[in-house]
Amino acid sequence: MIKRSEEDLCFLCKVNKADKAGSHFTPIGIIKKVVGKRGYEHEVTIAPSKGEVNQYFGRDNLKNTDPTIRQSDNVADHIFCTACEENLGKIESECIPYLHTIFDKVSQAATPLHTSRSGNSFIKFSNPNKNVLILFFYSIIWRQILNDFLSHGLQHPKDFFETLRKIVSTEISKPLNEIKKSEVFKDTPALIIFTCKFEDIDLTSLIYNPNPYPANPEVFSIGIYETLIFKEPHISQHYELSTKLPASVVDDDLIINIAEQGIIGVMDLEVWNNRNKWFFAKTADDFITTYVNKIVNATRLPFSAAEALLKAETHLIGGTTKAKTYADFFTEAVESVIRKYKS
Ligand SMILES: [Zn+2]
Repeated sequence: MIKRSEEDLCFLCKVNKADKAGSHFTPIGIIKKVVGKRGYEHEVTIAPSKGEVNQYFGRDNLKNTDPTIRQSDNVADHIFCTACEENLGKIESECIPYLHTIFDKVSQAATPLHTSRSGNSFIKFSNPNKNVLILFFYSIIWRQILNDFLSHGLQHPKDFFETLRKIVSTEISKPLNEIKKSEVFKDTPALIIFTCKFEDIDLTSLIYNPNPYPANPEVFSIGIYETLIFKEPHISQHYELSTKLPASVVDDDLIINIAEQGIIGVMDLEVWNNRNKWFFAKTADDFITTYVNKIVNATRLPFSAAEALLKAETHLIGGTTKAKTYADFFTEAVESVIRKYKS
């Protein structure tokens, strides 16, 4: 995470000093419902192209065996000013309780599901207000992009990031009544929100991450929500390959900006699970590739030979390594392979 001080400017308004400490990128309230009480969290953030995996266990989580409790990747100091933080909080408390109620109703089959013309299931609601909900998800998507940059140096398209920043910054400073009546969201990036009718939520399988491969609409995973946001009007080619979601989820009927009221799609559990499994497998694969390439660059070995050597080396040092992170562990294995090869 890039070091910041209270003299830096707030990332959101770019006007005030970033005097606020302990800001969350993904609001804790939306995680808490499924991840459990504060202190018991288990968060994993992954940047495969950088070969970085960070795990964070809340201080009361049994798996927290590290006495020096570091801060979660989801929390940082001097990101926002007090005014922006309060305005974000206002939008969050307007949405999160209602979202929890909606989610409970969906999982208990206590609310009618409608079907769109393309065959997607969805629910309709008047609370939270749809404009406030759009703003809420925009703010999380924008913060995920910001977090990706600050934690891993990953760049998303600058103009899209700036477009979102301007909307969020301008709109959250308005009174709630004005936000609710606003017409501006008809012309802002189209947004589709999905949840899933979970039978049993496996906490370790929830993702809080932008989809690692560019696509339009872009996919941002926010725990029990998958959000699709359009950077440009048309669906990208090979959408299913880069997101592992069926193209049928890109459903005009589910675009909340132009819907009459709040609308959230309900994804089939199988579709949801397939995407999640793919995400983890693909991410792990890309992570390994990052380290194999380091060996290839140093030795000029073919990729497959370097991969086999790395695999053998990780087995060999697995029992004796003192590495605390995956990145350190793989770096140690890579260095060992290169040393052996050159000697
Ligand atoms: Zn600010």
